[in-house]
Amino acid sequence: MYDVFDREHLWHPYTSTTNPLPVYKVDRAEECEIVLEDGTRLVDGMSSWWCAIHGYNHPVLNAAAEAQLKKMSHVMFGGLTHEPAIELGKLLLGIAPPSMDKIFYADSGSVAVEVAMKMAVQYQYAAGKPGKSNFVTIRRGYHGDTWNAMSVCDPVTGMHSLFGSALPVRYFASSPASRFDGEWDRSDMLPLQEIMEKHHDEIAALILEPIVQGAGGMWFYHPEYLRQAAALCREYDILLIFDEIATGFGRTGKLFAWEHAGVEPDIMCIGKALTGGYMTFSAVLASSKVADTISGNEPHSFMHGPTFMGNPLACAIAKASTELLLNSDWQVRVRAIETQLREELEPAAKLPSVQDVRVLGAIGVIEMKKSVDMASIQKRFVEEGVWVRPFGKLVYVMPPYIIGSRQLRKLTSALVKVAGEL
Ligand SMILES: *Cc1c(COP(=O)(O)O)cnc(C)c1O
Repeated sequence: MYDVFDREHLWHPYTSTTNPLPVYKVDRAEECEIVLEDGTRLVDGMSSWWCAIHGYNHPVLNAAAEAQLKKMSHVMFGGLTHEPAIELGKLLLGIAPPSMDKIFYADSGSVAVEVAMKMAVQYQYAAGKPGKSNFVTIRRGYHGDTWNAMSVCDPVTGMHSLFGSALPVRYFASSPASRFDGEWDRSDMLPLQEIMEKHHDEIAALILEPIVQGAGGMWFYHPEYLRQAAALCREYDILLIFDEIATGFGRTGKLFAWEHAGVEPDIMCIGKALTGGYMTFSAVLASSKVADTISGNEPHSFMHGPTFMGNPLACAIAKASTELLLNSDWQVRVRAIETQLREELEPAAKLPSVQDVRVLGAIGVIEMKKSVDMASIQKRFVEEGVWVRPFGKLVYVMPPYIIGSRQLRKLTSALVKVAGEL
C-alpha cells in the first residue's frame, strides 16, 4: 500500500524520515471525494487544509488555468504587469474591509505573514518610530512555519522550545476565553492591555487570527475581543494585522471573519482558499495610511519582492475561484453545513472521552480529553471512508462548501463513531 520511494526519500509535513507515519497514495480527486490508488473513495473533510472550498477538479477553475496557460504561466512582476493581477486586485478590494487600499501578492500564507510583519516594522520606521519593531499576539495562534511567522505562533504548541534561542522574542497575551456565542468576560482584555501599556514603545503591531484560531487550537472567541483590541491598538499607536489565511472566503459564515466584529485592520493576510486550493498563493492587503507612510520615507519603497510575485496563473485561478464563490449561494451552503454539523456532532459531547464540541460556519470540532494516536485514528477514518486528519486533541472537519448532506452525514457519523472508540 505504501510507496517505497516515498517512504525512503520524501519528507511529509511534520514527519520523521526514519519512522514516518503512513501516507495514502492518491490517484485523483473529484468534487468532494479523494480517490486512492486502490480505488478507495474518501469523503473529504479537510478541504486540503482550508483550501478546496469548491471541491476538487472543478471545471471552471480547470478552464481558467488552461486559458491562462495558453497566454503565459508566469512573467516577472518587476517592471511588468498583467490582466490577471489587475482583475484579481479589483475583485479583492471590492470584498475586503473598506480600509484596505493596496495589495501585495505573495507566494504562500507564511510569506504573507512575513510580508505583513515587515510592512508593520517599515511603517513604524517611516513614521519616525524605529523602536517600535516588536510584535504582540495572543496565545494559541498559528501563523505559519517561516521564521517570523513561527515567532508569533503559540509558544507552547508552536516550535518555540525547539527553536527558542534563535527566535525573536514576542509578547504573548492569553487567548480570549470567552466563547464566540457565549457571554463576554471583560477580564479577557486585561493581559493584552497590560502588555500594551508597558511595552507599546517597542511594539509595531498586534497580529492575530480574527474569531477563529485555526491550527493553534481550533478555538472560536468572542467578537468583543477584536473591538476592544482595535481600540487599544489605536490608543497605543500599534498597527492591527488580521491573519485571515484560514478564515477567509466564507469559512466562518461571513466572507471574512472580521465582519463578525465589524473591526477593520490596518493590514490583512489572505491565502489558502484564495485559489480554491489549486495553487500556492497569498495576498497582503494594506490601508493607504500604511502604504503611503512607508513610501513617504527612506528608502521610499517597501522592501520585498518575491520571484513569483503576482504569478499570472495563480492570479487567474484566484479570480475564477473568487467569482465562483461570490456567484454561488455560499451563505446558504455554509449555513446548512453549520446546522447539520451542530445537530450531528452534538451526540459526541456526551462521550466520556470528549472535552468539548464546537461549530462555527463550515467548521466542526470535537476536542478530546487526550491527544489522539495519529496513525491508528487515521486508519480508522480511512476504513470509515472519510478523509479526516486530526492533530493533538482536536478531531475536526472543514469540508468543501459543495458537500451534500449525505456526504456530510458520512463525515459526522465517522467522527462521532471514532471519537466513541477512544
Ligand atoms: C495555514 C496558515 C498560515 C500559513 O500558510 P502556508 O500557506 O501554509 O504558509 C498562516 N496563517 C494561518 C492562520 C494559517 O491557517
